[in-house]
Amino acid sequence: MILPISAYGDPVLKKKAKDIDNGFKDLNKLIENMWDTMYNANGVGLAAPQIGLPLRAFIVDTSPFADAENMSNDEFEIVKSFKKVFINPFLIKETGDKWDFNEGCLSIPDVREDITRSDTILIKYLDKNFNQHLDSFNGIIARVIQHEYDHIEGILFTDKLSSLKRKLLKGKLLNISKGKIETDYKMKFPKLIKNM
Ligand SMILES: [Zn+2]
Repeated sequence: MILPISAYGDPVLKKKAKDIDNGFKDLNKLIENMWDTMYNANGVGLAAPQIGLPLRAFIVDTSPFADAENMSNDEFEIVKSFKKVFINPFLIKETGDKWDFNEGCLSIPDVREDITRSDTILIKYLDKNFNQHLDSFNGIIARVIQHEYDHIEGILFTDKLSSLKRKLLKGKLLNISKGKIETDYKMKFPKLIKNM
C-alpha cells in the first residue's frame, strides 16, 4: 500500500526513532508498504519516520544509481542489484575519504544540495527475519545508508548545511511544510492550512 510521505516540518522527522522489538507483528506489512511508497515516489531509500512511524527501520535500493559509464564492472553489478532492509541498525564507524554528493530527499521535494560524507561505513543491523548482520559498505551504497540512518536519528540532510545555506533555503522549506509544493506522489504536510 502506498502511504503519504511526511514532509519537512513534521515533528516525526526530528525524533530519534525507537528500536523495533522481535514481537512486532506488522513488520512484513510495514516493509511492504515502505517498498510500495518508495518505488511510487522513485526513491532510492525510505525510512519509517518518513511514513509517520518513529521506528528504526529503513530500506535501500540503489539500482537507479547504477551507471555503466562511470563505474567499474564490479561496482556497477553491486550497485545495480543492491536492495536491502535495515532493522534496528547501529552505525559503528565511518571511515575513508570524505566526498560530496548532491543529495535529495522525498520529504524535502525540489531541494538538492551537496553534502559531505565519509566513503566507508561499518554497520550492524537486523534483516526482516531478525537475523543479525555486520557489514561494510562504501561509495554510493554507503551514502544512501548514511542518509537513511540520519532519518532514524532525527537528522535531515538540510541540517548538515551551513547556516548561510539554510538561511537561503528557509522560505522554500517553509513552503514545503505548508504544502506549497507540487509532487507526483502523495505527501502529508504538517502546516497545511485547511479551507484554503
Ligand atoms: Zn531523506
